[in-house]
Amino acid sequence: MRRPQWLKLTLFAFTALAMGSIALADGDTQPGRDPKQPVDEAYTAKIRQHTTEPYFSSPLVDYLPASKNVPTPEVVLGDVAGAPGILPYAEDVYKYMRLLEKATPRVKVFSIGTTEEGREMIAVAISSEANLKNLEQNHQRLAKLADPRTIHLDDAEADRLVAEAVPVYYITGTIHSTETGAPTALMELAYRLAVDDSPYIHEIRDGVITLITPVVEVDGGDRMVDLYKWHLAHPKDFYPPLIYWGKYVAHDNNRDAMAVTLKLTENVLNTYVGWDAQVLHDLHESVPYLYDNTVGDGPYNAWVDPILVDEWQMIGARNVADMTKFGMPGVFTHGDFDTWSPGYLMFIAAMHNGISRLYETFGNGGADTRERTLEPDEYARTWWRANPPLPKTLWSQRNNNNYEETGLLTSLHYFEENKHLFLKNFYLKSKRSIQKPSAEGPVAYVLSSDDPRSTVQADLLRIMFKQHVEISRSASAFTVALPVKKEKKPAKPDDAEEKPKPPAPTTRSFPAGSYIIRMDQPYSRVADALLDYQYWSPDDPQKTPYDDTAWTFGELFGVQVARVTDPKVLTVPMERITELPANGGVQGEGTLFAIDNHAEPALATLRYRLKAANIDAAEEPFQIADRKFSRGTFLIRGVSRSDLDAATKSLGLRAVALASAPSVKTHPVRAPRIAYIHTWISTQDDGWWRLALDNLQIAYDYMSTQALARIPDLNAKYDVILFPPVGWNSGSTMIIDGLPTSWGNPLPWLNTPESPNLGKNDSTPDMRPGMGWDGVAKLQSFVSKGGVLLTATDTSQFALAIGMASGVTASGSDKMKIVGAVVATRLVDAASPIAYGYEEKVSAYCDNGPIFSVNSMLGSRRRHLGPEMNTRPTGRGTKDDPDYVVGRPASEIPDEPEREQWEVPIPTDEQLHNNPRVVPPADRARVFLRYADAKDLLISGLVEGGSDIAQHPAVVDVPNGSGHVIMFSINPIYRGETENTYSLVLNTLLNFDSLNTGRKDAEK
Ligand SMILES: [Zn+2]
Repeated sequence: MRRPQWLKLTLFAFTALAMGSIALADGDTQPGRDPKQPVDEAYTAKIRQHTTEPYFSSPLVDYLPASKNVPTPEVVLGDVAGAPGILPYAEDVYKYMRLLEKATPRVKVFSIGTTEEGREMIAVAISSEANLKNLEQNHQRLAKLADPRTIHLDDAEADRLVAEAVPVYYITGTIHSTETGAPTALMELAYRLAVDDSPYIHEIRDGVITLITPVVEVDGGDRMVDLYKWHLAHPKDFYPPLIYWGKYVAHDNNRDAMAVTLKLTENVLNTYVGWDAQVLHDLHESVPYLYDNTVGDGPYNAWVDPILVDEWQMIGARNVADMTKFGMPGVFTHGDFDTWSPGYLMFIAAMHNGISRLYETFGNGGADTRERTLEPDEYARTWWRANPPLPKTLWSQRNNNNYEETGLLTSLHYFEENKHLFLKNFYLKSKRSIQKPSAEGPVAYVLSSDDPRSTVQADLLRIMFKQHVEISRSASAFTVALPVKKEKKPAKPDDAEEKPKPPAPTTRSFPAGSYIIRMDQPYSRVADALLDYQYWSPDDPQKTPYDDTAWTFGELFGVQVARVTDPKVLTVPMERITELPANGGVQGEGTLFAIDNHAEPALATLRYRLKAANIDAAEEPFQIADRKFSRGTFLIRGVSRSDLDAATKSLGLRAVALASAPSVKTHPVRAPRIAYIHTWISTQDDGWWRLALDNLQIAYDYMSTQALARIPDLNAKYDVILFPPVGWNSGSTMIIDGLPTSWGNPLPWLNTPESPNLGKNDSTPDMRPGMGWDGVAKLQSFVSKGGVLLTATDTSQFALAIGMASGVTASGSDKMKIVGAVVATRLVDAASPIAYGYEEKVSAYCDNGPIFSVNSMLGSRRRHLGPEMNTRPTGRGTKDDPDYVVGRPASEIPDEPEREQWEVPIPTDEQLHNNPRVVPPADRARVFLRYADAKDLLISGLVEGGSDIAQHPAVVDVPNGSGHVIMFSINPIYRGETENTYSLVLNTLLNFDSLNTGRKDAEK
């Protein structure tokens, strides 16, 4: 098509303008000091002094701009950022940020909430005076881009908003308390952004709102500073490892972005979403010298928008390019971190239409300057790390700060140069989230209002609220069409003869009041990611998944979640809700109350709360009128109706008053006295258990293995000892022996004036000793005298190693690879009180076992022959005929006892003959939950070689003396994500003195 001449001219003019801005975007603005910029010479000299090599710095940070009225970090730190020996408490960092706020209109400080221990968290905004003055108007623009429904998905209007809006780049530091560089780097960064008048910084200040949370894990950060100060005071000693970070967990605080159980996650999430920020950039320190793991490695999370994947590549590549040009070695963006799990803090952005970023810089775990020697794979030159780190170098906290600040400044500048692109992408990702129903689907997720586990459903929905997901409730019953599943062609002609399956249902109906999570909303992505299924192929080129491979919340919570693809669901009359309707309370008339058991954790809370009430558990299912109650139903007496009504209402449980007692066998449900054991090796995996028990308001005495060993009579004080997983590959020897005490010095974890933040969860003058053999003897005596010991994963192996479970063994498998996956288990003994409330199929979290086997003989030499090995040998007759020996009459073949993998084999008469190695029937393991058959084992994630664990026990109850050892192969309480299996632990607690209920001993 030919254009008239005048149009060509206009086009030319536009092109020239556009070219101008492109030229800028190509790096027109030189990074570094403006010659007119006054410099703080003394501070600058110290920067140089503490930087160990000139190439560990850049033109952006090798000087500090001077200001007449704005204080430098030195006023609070007493030295420059990154100086050796200096680690500030969060309070000092905040004090400095608030001094900045006072001194310049370019800084504003916001309180964003508190931690579990009540410490404040803050966010600091730095931008031009004008931008900070117009925060509210600017936020209105960002909010419209974040929710394109407000502008009717009008791209032209979006473009107008993009042209005017100032984006928000959110930086978070020190979520990992031993990674100590970020607070000082971010103090200095804030100063630079506020005062530096070089064009490069000016552009950032004018074009971006930089938002900074300098310390994410404040509780752990303060403890780390205590430890570091202890180290400075005792320079020749080993200093204690940071055993507690936050109140509950350590490194896993960066795995909480799905279930949002920790305050720090909730506070950062609310800040990120509340500001409608575009980027969340989280700072870590474990890789030399700067690994921008934004690009990382596959497999990428399958729920993020491909637009984000493109953004990761753009930003990552440019970051490396800029820093490489400064001559800084060891900067790369491609590495072994896969971006599969959405559990990382930075993923708050990826799941809410922003850009997730993460730096691993190189930290010394404190502010000492140290000679650092790298591993060969850390300094190797690879195609993606053309300028690798040095094999050996002197490294300082200042170097680390230089890398952090240079990386952030180049990122901020690149982001500013391309802010229209990134803002438009932000809008597009939000828009595409809203278009999910008509694009890739699903249309909605529906949670039925008749789910029997309504309190667990409520917990799952509350997580959705925390994630800022919109939830609606249907005003009437409705029916949706189910997707038509393609019939699988029979693999062999033989299979075609199998009896035809009943036709699959084609519709599904939901009652009124069901919860509809529509996918035409801006944050549909996070709901979709959490509720969907995951599949990690065993053939994936990524052989070392960085974290869990699955999380499917409906399965791990044991709540029905329907993935609906029928667009009609969006036309159902519904109302958006912002809180869940009140549920629970007492119905009917009578003085005996029943609460049906659906393995809801709230039942345990109720037991502990109603201290004076008599609660019994029904040992069999029963029926009253036409109402059915399941095994384990609570029968409550000795509490007023009003008290029970209040308690059940607050917990969401439904109680029914009965006119008369059902004729069913019962036993008392009691609140046991619990000793809760931790090691001084690691407290993180048990921390998730502690968090769950605290949330359920279940009281326990928290003590270390050392303290346990000192208690003279455990049975006098406790009914149950909980020993949750330890982690850290600690092994039984380490649990018993602890760390070597034959050299070095005691490692105190004590609350002293020298270390005011330590020793609060628990304390010891020396972390090194373990449980000791005295402790082992105490444990054994506790159980044999009637106590209950509950263990999981590695502590189960410990219980086996100290000989507490006759006839049970645990093994690993080289072939098996179950990496943080959701697996299927099956109830095989519903009469066990530990199984109360569960249906036959139970989904559970599993991370490679251990593989339990049960036997009725100790140290049997003969391997049990599986059924496939009993098939007849080659010979006469058909496959099913017996063989006939020529020349003699046929002899009768004795029946080989049949036995499933999870069953304790019943010894044959031959085996019983003169055999003192037989485990007496009453002492044999009771298996009530087993792993599913191999073909059914995988529910979500990566399961490879699953046949090695398939059908084996998932939980066993082993009698020992008059007590019990309950051992889990699955981890029932994990990261706030596994509420489905909590009640396996809680049932053990509540039925601690009736665990043999329904037990059937073998006759021989
Ligand atoms: Zn980290």
